[in-house]
Amino acid sequence: MTTNAINNTRTQILPQPIKYLPDQDGFFGNYGGQFIPPELKPKFDQLTEQFYSILDDEEFHKELISLLIDYVGRPSPLYYARRLSEYTGNRVYLKREDLNHTGAHKINNTIGQILMARRMGYKEIIAETGAGQHGVATATAAALMGMECKIFMGRKDYDRQFLNVKRMEMLGAQVISVEQGTGSLKDAVDAALGYFIENPAAYYLIGSVVGPHPYPAIVRYFQSVIGSEARQQILLKENRLPDFVFAAIGGGSNAIGIFSAFIDDEQVKLVAGEGAGLGIDNEKNAATLNLGKPMVFQGMKTLTLTDDQGNPRPSYSIAAGLDYPGIGPEHAHLRDTGRVKYLPITDEQATRAFKLLARLEGIIPAMESAHGVAAALETLLDKTGKLAIINISGRGDKDVERIKL
Ligand SMILES: *Cc1c(COP(=O)(O)O)cnc(C)c1O
Repeated sequence: MTTNAINNTRTQILPQPIKYLPDQDGFFGNYGGQFIPPELKPKFDQLTEQFYSILDDEEFHKELISLLIDYVGRPSPLYYARRLSEYTGNRVYLKREDLNHTGAHKINNTIGQILMARRMGYKEIIAETGAGQHGVATATAAALMGMECKIFMGRKDYDRQFLNVKRMEMLGAQVISVEQGTGSLKDAVDAALGYFIENPAAYYLIGSVVGPHPYPAIVRYFQSVIGSEARQQILLKENRLPDFVFAAIGGGSNAIGIFSAFIDDEQVKLVAGEGAGLGIDNEKNAATLNLGKPMVFQGMKTLTLTDDQGNPRPSYSIAAGLDYPGIGPEHAHLRDTGRVKYLPITDEQATRAFKLLARLEGIIPAMESAHGVAAALETLLDKTGKLAIINISGRGDKDVERIKL
C-alpha cells in the first residue's frame, strides 16, 4: 500500500462550528430561558449581543479555528475500533476527544469563550468545577491569554481532587475552596455567582450547556465542532451516515456537540447514557432525563431531580462529571420530542464498559465517557453490522485509581 492509499481524513477537515440557535428568549421548546437577578441583566445582555455578533465574524473564526487546530490538536481522529467492532458484531468508530490538549472535550468550549471574553475587554475569568476537569480547561485557556483566573470548588471536591487542584495552580489559577453549605458543586456555583454579581470585571465561564440563556447556546456552538468533524469523517471513511451516535451525558455538552451535526438526519439514531449510579429505583443516581421534573433551576427551566417535597435533591454518580441534578435545557426538549433516547447506565455497567474498552482497544476512557460506551453495548446487541460512532469525551487517567481490576 502506498501512502497515497491511506485515507488521511484528518488533513481534509476543518473544525468549523455549526450554527443553530434557541428562540430569541433562549428557549428550546418548553425549556431554557433566562431566570436571573435583575442586577445581572445588563451583563447577560452584553454577552448575548457579543455571542450573536461573533457568529458571522470571520476574524473571530480564523483565530478560533487556528487555535483548535494547533493548540488543542483538532480535528480529533475518528478511529475504527476493530476489536470492539468484532466483539459487538457491528462497525464501531470512536471519536477521540480524549486526545485533545488537557484530555477532554471541555477545552473546545473554554477556548471559544475566552476569545469572546477578551473581545469584551474582560481581564479576569471565573469558573466553578466539581472534579476539576472544567477548572483545568479554564485555567489553561486563561494562561494562554494571560488573564487572571479564579476557580471555585466545593471543599469536599477540593480535598478529593488534589491532582487537578495542583494542575490549576501550576497554570496560575487561584483555586478557592468553598466552605459554605455541604461543600459540593452546587455550593461552588453559588459562590461563583456571588462573586460574579459583585465583580463587574469578571467573566463567568460556564462549562456545559446549562445555566441561563445565552450559555446553553454558546457552549453548544463551541462544542459542535465535534459533530461537524465526525460527520465529515464518517462520510469520507464510509461514504454514508452512521446508524447510531452514542455519547455520555452530564450537563450535556459533549453529547449535544456530537449530536448537533446529525439532528436533522432522522435515520441517524441518537442515544445518550446518563449516570444511573446505584439504580433508578432509589435516590443514588443522576438520571435526570429519566426521573427529573420540570422546574426553574440555576437560572434555566429544565428537568431536575427532586425530593418528596419537590425541592432539588443531591445527585450521585461514580463519574464526577455526570454527578449533577439538572440537565441542559435542549436535552430536556430532545427527550420530550423523542429525537434522542436517554438510557440510564449504572456505575456497574459503566465500570464494565471502562474495562472492556481498555482491554479491547488500549484506550482508557474517562469514567464519564464509559457511560456512552455502555449505552452502545446495551443498544448494539443484535450483531447486525450497524454503523456506529461513540464519542469518547475524555481520557481516564484520573479514574484508574478508583477502579478495581
Ligand atoms: C465534564 C465531562 C463530561 C460531562 O459533561 P458534559 O457537559 O455532559 O459533556 C463528560 N465527559 C468528560 C470527560 C468530562 O470531563
